[in-house]
Amino acid sequence: MPIKSNFPDIDLQVADIFSFLFNRKDRPFPDDQVIFQDADNLERQYTYGQIKQSSIDFGKGLKSNHGFRKADVLGLFVPNDIDVAPVVFGTLWAGGIVSPANPGYTVPELVYQLKDSGARVLVTHLSVLDNARKACAEVGIPDSHILLLGKDRDQGRQVKHWTQVRNLEGTARYRTPKIEPKTDLAFLVYSSGTTGRPKGVKLTHHNMTSNIQQIQASEGWLSWDGSKRVPGIPDAPKGKGDKILACLPFFHIYGLNMLVHSPMYSGVHTLVLARFELEKWCRLVQEHQITFSYIVPPIVLLLCKAPVVDKYDLSSLRMTNSGAAPLTRDLVEALYKRKGVRVKQGYGLSETSPTIFVQRWEDWLDSVGSTGWMLPNLEAKFCAVPGPGQESDGNKEVPRGQVGELYVRGPNVFVGYHNNPAATAECLDEEGWFRTGDVGFMDDKGNLTITDRVKELIKYKGFQVPPAELEGYLASHDLVDDVAVVGVESVELGTEVPRAYVVRKGGLQAVKPNDGKDIVAWLNAKVANHKKLRGGIKFVDAVPKSVSGKILRRVLKEQAQKEFREE
Ligand code: AMP
Repeated sequence: MPIKSNFPDIDLQVADIFSFLFNRKDRPFPDDQVIFQDADNLERQYTYGQIKQSSIDFGKGLKSNHGFRKADVLGLFVPNDIDVAPVVFGTLWAGGIVSPANPGYTVPELVYQLKDSGARVLVTHLSVLDNARKACAEVGIPDSHILLLGKDRDQGRQVKHWTQVRNLEGTARYRTPKIEPKTDLAFLVYSSGTTGRPKGVKLTHHNMTSNIQQIQASEGWLSWDGSKRVPGIPDAPKGKGDKILACLPFFHIYGLNMLVHSPMYSGVHTLVLARFELEKWCRLVQEHQITFSYIVPPIVLLLCKAPVVDKYDLSSLRMTNSGAAPLTRDLVEALYKRKGVRVKQGYGLSETSPTIFVQRWEDWLDSVGSTGWMLPNLEAKFCAVPGPGQESDGNKEVPRGQVGELYVRGPNVFVGYHNNPAATAECLDEEGWFRTGDVGFMDDKGNLTITDRVKELIKYKGFQVPPAELEGYLASHDLVDDVAVVGVESVELGTEVPRAYVVRKGGLQAVKPNDGKDIVAWLNAKVANHKKLRGGIKFVDAVPKSVSGKILRRVLKEQAQKEFREE
């Protein structure tokens, strides 16, 4: 029997994202409420009304300047910046689909996503313009279809700034197209899912707006005017509203929905950092009386351990939320003891827009270590997990309370992988059940604890590292006959790191002292920072495989963890 959410179901509004955010009848805050402000340059800011107008102007510019049509894809290759909001909402206004990419990507990594998504326009940033132009040249996106955002301009003026395609004459006749919220796509974010290389996760307008509504109904405790109170949790400073410090990347679904979309709905003032830097984050919390921040477990670890944190008063924080990777009870308790900072967990995936479980604010200490309750309008079931070295024997449901692989069903579950029906069929069935690849159990209060992951995916500090991608590169190296990459937990870094098991050409006896180092350096030069082989290489005489030839990753993972403990 499917498990229902503890929260009562809500009546979901079905609307496209632009109308949902900008044509709202029940909006509690005024047009001139400041939503986004640049933490490095406080003069740069946008009110709600300015974002709405800039988005429409940009959407019109895309249509007139670039012949942008409904369902065209705009690639976004930028560090965090307040301009992301009008560019995203402008693209959606024009009926387009946004495909955000990590600005740390190498040229081949960006080429892969641009090609796969079929992007027609790329919005980028001066700091990564070189890679953007090289990648665009390779996939045939002309310079005229590359735009910059952010405060810096291209001095050579070859690449236009996004504001230069706004307000063009003759654009008044352009209209937003009719959008079917449940079937028309808003985003193509990239995730490796349960297996293989990154794939375009098709998220509809309804997926994204549902998730905002599900979160508002279960933990909508942030407000623009400080009017929302939670028993046992401090209020926002008197006479002021909440303030968010945005330090997670907007290209990842967690940042995209929580930091770009949600503030537009709640009206909460959001200070935007280009990237996370520990001392700066602490200083800004103190200086701006920040009341909330979305973080990831490695940030929690730093806040627990780094001496510099002692210099700052973080007591304005009412709550923080950690997601994207597992967080232990020990860390939550250590941070509260050291700084009085509360951290609760959320859990989700790119494929679920992203949030599916949240710890409630009022319950953050009682359910510590778990990821809390399932959001409203969702159902869950748990299925038996094959042991290490065994193949799956079908989807046998286990009773509630027992450990199993989590499946969920609901309005925020994606509609499939882009151009990849086989990968879609592997994790999404006709009844709408989505196989998460995560393993855990739900206690009798409804709290989910994640205990393991059965899919291949490795997460370095919350960033995806698809083993298949690293294996693809490594297999092409002259010295490599066979290879498998698995994740291993580094206690020191507070994150998983990728480690490779390599069969060397000529076997173990042919291994030379520098082979490992050379291969690691060779690979690291080809990939973005988060995919570097920080777990090192181990040469083996064979990669363990099942009778059907599948790499026995869980066997290797256990071996890697043992080796790491002993090293
Ligand atoms: P992504 O699609 O990049 O958001 O990655 C989703 C994956 O991150 C999930 O399938 C989990 O394996 C992991 N994850 C996200 N949140 C949590 C959490 N709170 N605890 C444990 N794992 C998590």
